[in-house]
Amino acid sequence: MSYRRKIVAGNWKMNKTATEAKDFVADLLNALGQYSDNDVETIICPPFVCLPACFEVLEGSSTIIMGAQDMSAQKGGAYTGEISAEMLKDLYCRYVILGHSERRQYNGETDALVNEKTKIAFANKIRPIVCVGETLEQREAGKTKSAVTSQVNNSLADLSPEQWSEMVIAYEPIWAIGTGKTATATQAQEVHELIRGLIAKNADDSIADKARILYGGSVKPDNSKELMSQDDIDGALVGGASLQVDSFVSIVEAACEDFE
Ligand code: PEP
Repeated sequence: MSYRRKIVAGNWKMNKTATEAKDFVADLLNALGQYSDNDVETIICPPFVCLPACFEVLEGSSTIIMGAQDMSAQKGGAYTGEISAEMLKDLYCRYVILGHSERRQYNGETDALVNEKTKIAFANKIRPIVCVGETLEQREAGKTKSAVTSQVNNSLADLSPEQWSEMVIAYEPIWAIGTGKTATATQAQEVHELIRGLIAKNADDSIADKARILYGGSVKPDNSKELMSQDDIDGALVGGASLQVDSFVSIVEAACEDFE
């Protein structure tokens, strides 16, 4: 198994004003000082309007990397309310979350749209973190594997081997997001192994071996270590627990410990 640098990414969703974000990021940076470990890439994905304030605090530091929560599939022009990849790049975003289940559910985002956005992100040298995951109904009907397979194959259709190697996939069972219900480490590992196999089919074995696959869904300090110690779980996409310095830092710490 290849060495894979862990990722802990915080998805703030629609939380924090720019003023709150600035104070929060300063506190987070301070608290993370001791964990600025080369084995873990720590990413925050604040709301768009908080990005400049966060960058002001983070400029010159490599401890925290900035990402966005979404992005337009259009390059620019008459698309009221949209934010382009170029705008995110200009604000030093190196990652973008795409196809989060909340965007799929509330904004009708399809695999085809996620695929377009993924290609635009790559064209702008922003790494996509593409989210996939089954609903409770699909899990209970024994359709987890087919649902995740179809999301991976369609959201990530027609990528080059190089793009596959830079891609980050987040497995987020929808029934576990914001509900306090976490997939067991075994349930999560099973799907992560499936996803790694899909990467091998779409790209090749060596790319799959290096690809990073994150787990998301009620990740908290007390379950993060067990989840991230699974063979195919290379980090976490964290919602609620990324909004408090203490809990987010504990999850980063758990990711660092996995290498000890
Ligand atoms: C998420 O929104 O990506 C997420 C995993 O949220 P939570 O950790 O709150 O379940």
